[in-house]
Amino acid sequence: MMSVLRLGHRLARDPRISTHCGLVARALGADEIIYSGEHDESLLKGIEETVQRWGGPFSVRYEANWKKCIAEYRKKGYKITHLTMYGVSLKKSKMKKHKKMLIIIGGEKVQPEVYQMSDYNVSIENQPHSEVAALAVFLNECCRPKKFRNAKMRIVPQEKGKRVIEEK
Ligand code: SAM
Repeated sequence: MMSVLRLGHRLARDPRISTHCGLVARALGADEIIYSGEHDESLLKGIEETVQRWGGPFSVRYEANWKKCIAEYRKKGYKITHLTMYGVSLKKSKMKKHKKMLIIIGGEKVQPEVYQMSDYNVSIENQPHSEVAALAVFLNECCRPKKFRNAKMRIVPQEKGKRVIEEK
């Protein structure tokens, strides 16, 4: 089980990047994304629509209290991995791949407690970039590709051009 917790969503600035976090989480093998920060119903709806169209299982929800969320996942046996440019490079990190992992990605400012509450603080190179890129690289390294079910749309890969099958 791989869950993603996206901290600090801001209605005025983040709908697009937070949507991309959800799309990357789903496409690259995570099981769910939890959004914290400002509540944004259309963000949740957008990800749910993608699941309906392109398949699942993948779930999305909002959680106002991120500290409670981290504590609950720890209790359930999840290892907490925070992606941050200040962490130890994924290539050098002592992080092991665990069956249950909660991956935390931040927004503009990440509270100091997040660093303390995490089992691992991992960087994707020690340079600033983005939560979308960090999550994509991390999942690509640490997650197995998922078989999507109940999709309405399916891509048939092509050397050139596009082919999409609509399931009846
Ligand atoms: N000061 C932040 C930090 O701790 O990485 C950079 C803020 S960045 C706008 C938002 C989020 O992108 C961060 O909270 C982190 O999850 C992710 N991020 C950015 N650069 C990263 C890197 N080099 N390695 C891992 N995660 C990164």
